[in-house]
Parts: sequence; structure tokens; C-alpha cells
Amino acid sequence: MTTKNDVEKFRDPVLAKKVAEHIKKLAPPYETKFCHVCGTHEWTITHYGLRSLLPDNVDVISGPGCPVCILPASDIDEAIALTEKGVTVTTFGDLIRVPGSETSLQKAKASGGDVRIVYGLRDAIQMAKKNPDKEFVFFAVGFETTSPSTAIEVLNKPPENFSFLVSHRLIPPAMELLLGIGDLHIDGFIAAGHVSTIIGMKPYAVFPEAYGMPTVVAGFEPLDVLFAVDMLLQQVRDGVARLENEYKRAVSWEGNVKAQKLLEQVFDVVDGHWRGLGKLPKSALGLKREFSRYDAREKYDLHIEESRDILKGCLCHLVMIGKIKPPECPSYMTSCVPESPKGACMVSNEGTCRIWAKHRVTKLR
Ligand code: SF4
Repeated sequence: MTTKNDVEKFRDPVLAKKVAEHIKKLAPPYETKFCHVCGTHEWTITHYGLRSLLPDNVDVISGPGCPVCILPASDIDEAIALTEKGVTVTTFGDLIRVPGSETSLQKAKASGGDVRIVYGLRDAIQMAKKNPDKEFVFFAVGFETTSPSTAIEVLNKPPENFSFLVSHRLIPPAMELLLGIGDLHIDGFIAAGHVSTIIGMKPYAVFPEAYGMPTVVAGFEPLDVLFAVDMLLQQVRDGVARLENEYKRAVSWEGNVKAQKLLEQVFDVVDGHWRGLGKLPKSALGLKREFSRYDAREKYDLHIEESRDILKGCLCHLVMIGKIKPPECPSYMTSCVPESPKGACMVSNEGTCRIWAKHRVTKLR
């Protein structure tokens, strides 16, 4: 558990300077690129200007770590289709502005659809209990960090007028996808701390073992990220890929076994669509057959064709895999701004474009 002391310790500017100096000493004389897969890591890196502390030839790029950004347009279209069937769709605030193939939940709401923002899944269930004559669906998104809370509520047997539009995704398969992108040339992974508290270190063993990819699980304070870069550079220098844990205060090898069991009890691991990235094998969670009565796709017979994920003038699909940085998109801070986002990466507080825009970053480093 992170204490107030930890927070202060991991934000110490004097120590940060020392680590940055050590990073400079370790940096090889060629371009080195590490990839994180977490919106909170991107926020920390951008907010504290950590890229500016790194040598010019060492960079940290942002992978598909924003759960809202990676939602395919077809999932948004499904939620909109539910409103057209008279169902009340409950979800978190960010999600309603994410574009589907033609429109968003926000626009569906403006056209009379019943879309309600909730602060937690339990609020949505309470709403359904108080309105037994109406049908409610909770649009459940997020990675391994949030899916256990969906599993708990499925097991708690919500009322009959309540079901889930499950759009949970899994992080390790997305990391594997990045390794298959030939011209991305990643030299190491900074694995997400939040997700790792649930899944533990174990699922990342494949990266050093099968792909020779240095991997470090890291926390979210600025020094956590700098330590992770330092540890990755040491692996690069040693010429040996290892799986290391920088975030020992929160992440264990096994992870949260209780949460993992809940997930296994409620969900099957299935193939999943990711915005702009296509279908990734075994990258999503689907409700097990025995819980199909809570599955909104079955209950309301949803059949949405694959939708147009790549929107005109939006390069989110390239930002999400770290191939380009937000200022390289011609729409960045011109026709796409946080107040009026064009693409999903400018909507969520975990989206790379929004984080960069909120910090008024216009340079590539
Ligand atoms: S700046 Fe806007 S349009 Fe460009 S990639 Fe980001 S979200 Fe898409």
C-alpha cells in the first residue's frame, strides 16, 4: 500500500536529479525506446516533464493504456442501439463523449436517449432497483483493475431489469500486439502498476522469456517511472532481458488471487476488438454462459456490424500504439481540443492527446 511517506519519497526532486544523472550514464549510444501501457503513467510522465530529464536518445512512448480510447466504435454503437430500444444506459462520464461510428452517447442523449452518468456500478444498480418498470444496462469498460468490480456485482445477482454491456479488455495481449509491429522497435516495457496489482508479475514473464523484452512493473510517482527507465537501461546494458518489479510496495508475483478467482468465475477470456487495432486474440472478457441473463448483448439481441473505427482526420490508432505523438496529428489543438474532441484519445483523462493538450505540450519531447 502506498503511504503519504512513499508519495513524498517518490517525488523527491533531489533524488530525481540523481536518478536522471544515472540514466544518462547508463544510456547506450543509440536510440532506445521504452513503452508504457497506462494512462496514469502518461499523466505522470507529462505532468512532471520526465521526458525532458532523459537523454535525447532515450524515449518513453505511450501504448494502448487508456481503457476508454481503445474501445472500438462498434461497442459505442451497441450502447447507442440500446438507447434506441428504450433502455437506460448507465456509464462513467468520459465514455459518453467517445465517438461511435456515426455519433456518440452524448449526442444520443441530446436526441432523447436515456443515458445516465454514474460514479459507480452500485449507483446504477440502485437506480434499477428504484425503477423496476424500466430496463437498465451498465456499460462496463476498463482493464483488469476494474473488471473485478463488475464480477462482484454479477455474482451479487442484480435485479431482473439490469444487465451489463461488457467491454472489459486485458493488457498483456495488447503488449504482445505491440511487439508484432515491425517498425515500432520497442526496447522494453514499463508495465502498468494498477493492472499489475490484480494480475501480479506472472503474466509478464512471457515478455523477457519468449520475446527477449526487458520488462519492469512500475508505480505512478515520478521517481517510480525514472527508476523503471533506469532498471530497463541496466537490462539493455547487460544484454539480458529480465522481469523486474519496481512497484514492490503494491505488486506481488501472484497478484490479487481473490480478484483473479472472481474473474475466472464470471468471465471467459475471448477475442476482443480494439479501436483501430482490429481483433486481438484472447484480449477481452465475456460473461460465462451461466450469466447470460445479465448479458445485454444477448438480452437485447444486439448485432452491430464491425464499425468504422478510424475517423477522418484522427490518428488515434497511431497515437495509441506510440507510433506518433499527439503534435504529429494535424488536428491536435486545431480542430481537436479537450473541449471539443475529435477522437477518443482527446476524450478521456487517460488519453494521451488529452493529457498532452491539458499540459499544452506542443513539442515531441
Ligand atoms: S489529436 Fe485528436 S484527432 Fe488527432 S489523434 Fe488525437 S484525438 Fe485523434
